[in-house]
Amino acid sequence: MSVSSNNLEPQFQVLRKAYYLERYPSLAARLDRLRRVKAMLTEHESAWCEALSQDFGYRSADQSSFADITTSIKSVNHALKNLKFWMKAERRTPDLSLRMSGAKTYVEAFPKGVVGIVSPWNFPINLALSPLVSVLAAGNRAFIKPSEATPATSALLEKLISQYFTDDEVAVACGDVDVAQAFVKLPFDHIIYTGGETVAKHIMRDAAENLVPLTLELGGKSPVIVSSSADLKLTAKRIAFGKYFNAGQICIAPDYLLIAEDRLEAFLLDLKSAVEHADSSQGSADSVSIVNERHRQRIDYLIAEGESANARVMRFSGHNQSAYQLTVVINPSADAGINNSEIFGPVLLIKTIGDLSEQIAYINQSSHPLVIYYFGRSETEFRRVARETSSGGLVKNDVIFQYANDDLPFGGVGGSGMGKYRGEYGFKEFSNNRAVYKSGIVDVSGFVTPPYSGVFRMVNK
Ligand code: NAD
Repeated sequence: MSVSSNNLEPQFQVLRKAYYLERYPSLAARLDRLRRVKAMLTEHESAWCEALSQDFGYRSADQSSFADITTSIKSVNHALKNLKFWMKAERRTPDLSLRMSGAKTYVEAFPKGVVGIVSPWNFPINLALSPLVSVLAAGNRAFIKPSEATPATSALLEKLISQYFTDDEVAVACGDVDVAQAFVKLPFDHIIYTGGETVAKHIMRDAAENLVPLTLELGGKSPVIVSSSADLKLTAKRIAFGKYFNAGQICIAPDYLLIAEDRLEAFLLDLKSAVEHADSSQGSADSVSIVNERHRQRIDYLIAEGESANARVMRFSGHNQSAYQLTVVINPSADAGINNSEIFGPVLLIKTIGDLSEQIAYINQSSHPLVIYYFGRSETEFRRVARETSSGGLVKNDVIFQYANDDLPFGGVGGSGMGKYRGEYGFKEFSNNRAVYKSGIVDVSGFVTPPYSGVFRMVNK
């Protein structure tokens, strides 16, 4: 069913009523819903890829297939395999005090109810469906608000969801900001939002009215530490991948790189050959465009402003005319916007800071990043980075691939977000993890009667 801002509330009530009628879907019912998510992906792969390409201007079918389709199918498979274990109650050890003797205690996950999913444009399928997998695995009903910046993909999502799910299982509300604003005012049992920080603050204020719990998957500037022990060729190859993949429009893309002055030129040469190699072996067919003119202008502006703030700017060869050239902005002065704004495109900021203590101090000046990338061979350094910084994730000698592991939690900390999902973490995030306490059959309550002072002294020992 097609949902506009006028019928958001009735559609929400359809989902809520269904939740009240089936508060604890069986394992079989949940597996069936997950299999339908998978079928919706596999049976329409080319339609999804075409819609994505239409929305981006150009987006290689291979990249779409890998990033949006395969990654989402992997998440479904992971849930299909593990759900029966996640649903098992977790036993807890009761306190050994007399009053609790014989008690049984455990934690059991129950669905929260109706979960709202507000998703962005950069991976419009995966960032709607990956949360959906966790939401359905946890036994909830779902209502999705996809991004208006990718209208063809959002329309296809709406159409296919209505083919594969009844409107009391999963619904989609397409539309612009008006719809989004009305959507997050609904009295959901949980909302997961993926997007920028400014909108996240609006959503928090709206959700506060109904005390709706939130998972916020935001952005931020993810730094790359290049240690003196780093293999520069490997580093350059992986950074080139991180900046080319989806044209760098990835929340966990390497944003800026910290490297010693005396290693900079060698790194730039390696980066150039990594880009040239990618160009010659993959060619224009494998590229992705900047999603729209507004974002293209935003990226142009960040580079131009950096250039006028005394940065050295280098442009490496681009895949084709619609794609953006990989651009490196080196050492702009402190007032340049690129130092503080998330780049979210195929541009790499480089700062020549080589000493690990100074690199850590630089990272710690700003809000907690979504990820910190460390390139180097030293485990001691890596442990130092772990202990002396804070971020949603921490990665050694690679970029982005941490997301491909469904067994790892995904999310930010501080300014890069709150809450974690995917795999078991997603199941728990969208569950009410209920504490269950069953008293022992022997009545020892006579011990806990006034005067309490003696009892408390006994318990506290
Ligand atoms: P966007 O413009 O597509 O917006 C995201 C969603 O928010 C859309 O569905 C939109 O309709 C909705 N929205 C817009 N205004 C709203 C409002 N006032 N109230 C409620 N909802 C509203 O996406 P974007 O914000 O441009 O996304 C890019 C940002 O997302 C970047 O900062 C990126 O780092 C971040 N991001 C984070 C992750 C993550 O998992 N942490 C993943 C991808 C993107």
